[in-house]
Amino acid sequence: MQSKNFEALGLSEPLLRALREQQFETPTPIQEQSIPSLLEKCDLLGIAQTGTGKTAAFSLPILHELAEDWEPPAPKFPLSIILAPTRELAIQIGESIESLGRHLPVRHTVIFGGVSQKRQVSALQRGVDIVVATPGRLLDLMNQGHISLNHIWHFVLDEADRMLDMGFIHDVKKIIAALPKERQTLFFSATMPKTVSGLASSILHDPVRIEVTPQSTPVERIAQSVYYVPAADKNGLLTNILGDKSINKTIVFTRTKHRANRVAQQLDKAGITSAAIHGNKSQGARQKALKNFSSGEVRVLVATDIAARGIDIDNVSHVINFELPNIAEDYVHRIGRTARAGASGAAISMCDPSEQAYLRDIEKLMQQQLDVLGGQPSQDEPKPTKRGSRASPNRRAKSKRYQGKPKKSAA
Ligand code: AMP
Repeated sequence: MQSKNFEALGLSEPLLRALREQQFETPTPIQEQSIPSLLEKCDLLGIAQTGTGKTAAFSLPILHELAEDWEPPAPKFPLSIILAPTRELAIQIGESIESLGRHLPVRHTVIFGGVSQKRQVSALQRGVDIVVATPGRLLDLMNQGHISLNHIWHFVLDEADRMLDMGFIHDVKKIIAALPKERQTLFFSATMPKTVSGLASSILHDPVRIEVTPQSTPVERIAQSVYYVPAADKNGLLTNILGDKSINKTIVFTRTKHRANRVAQQLDKAGITSAAIHGNKSQGARQKALKNFSSGEVRVLVATDIAARGIDIDNVSHVINFELPNIAEDYVHRIGRTARAGASGAAISMCDPSEQAYLRDIEKLMQQQLDVLGGQPSQDEPKPTKRGSRASPNRRAKSKRYQGKPKKSAA
């Protein structure tokens, strides 16, 4: 079946123009499946990873509706709130809204912690329609009376699984409690562990359910392989792998911030330029590292799971797992950084004896064995200190619509 174009989805001309200018010609599957329902005000449960086009899938209908129904004088309070787990992701969503909404009078701002709140408060005081926020800072500003969510039409919870993993559950619940009952809620998550599906079913009203890649299934275009290697030999192996100049844009994953710094230092010693991003880096340092990596100025980005989650960088050729994640689903997120937009990619993992149990979890989740490039499993396997396991219940598709329309009168 031929996929639809954006015109057929019912979006307004200023949005179609912005899409043409960005050379977005055909909707991605999640856009094609979700935009018509969202324009009909349905709630949505989207099971989708970053890279599927989900940001535009929720931004386009929100911009469409705000522009259609928005009448001067401009409201003094936000009508749409988008929650994201990390500041990088919030900034990226803001950039996406900026470019998709460039021909519309819709105003937005991005709110996140780790920086002074002054500019964020000034933007709110001038008036914004869409707020993209991380939960902690949003709650802070709500508590200080700088923002009210009483008039929200659209509430988007992006990367809900990661948000809960990062311990934001209480903040998220407080934010939800401050929203009006009548609203449109969009919930996105790459995986659906029990806590996440529980939250989804408590806040969504008969959602349309859209799953764009089968849950926890890796992109088939990624060649996945593993080296069995003692922990002490990993630095040498990494330098060797990166000695191959065809490996041009690589994200190296570690489990901890400390290890990310150490790996970046070792690479520098070996003459390989790299940048590290993790939660201890300042906002400025993280943005700079991402910019340099994106532009190709540095070839290697060393990252922890949380810092890298949701980051959208094109043409990443390789993902190297210097350390395997202790939660198998994180492996899927990591390798999903490569093979974006139809490209192929490679994921190389290093597994030391203490990580063999993690590897087994990963292979079980992926239902495949990784190609072994070197070494062999140790017979003498120490117990891992912390095992992560998350159930992935496969919930049956449920497709009902909610007729209630968020009231413009609230504005
Ligand atoms: P996301 O999953 O929202 O992070 O989007 C992943 C990438 O796909 C981003 O770089 C978007 O700019 C890009 N993208 C989103 N929708 C389309 C589209 N319809 N055509 C081409 N690229 C797109």
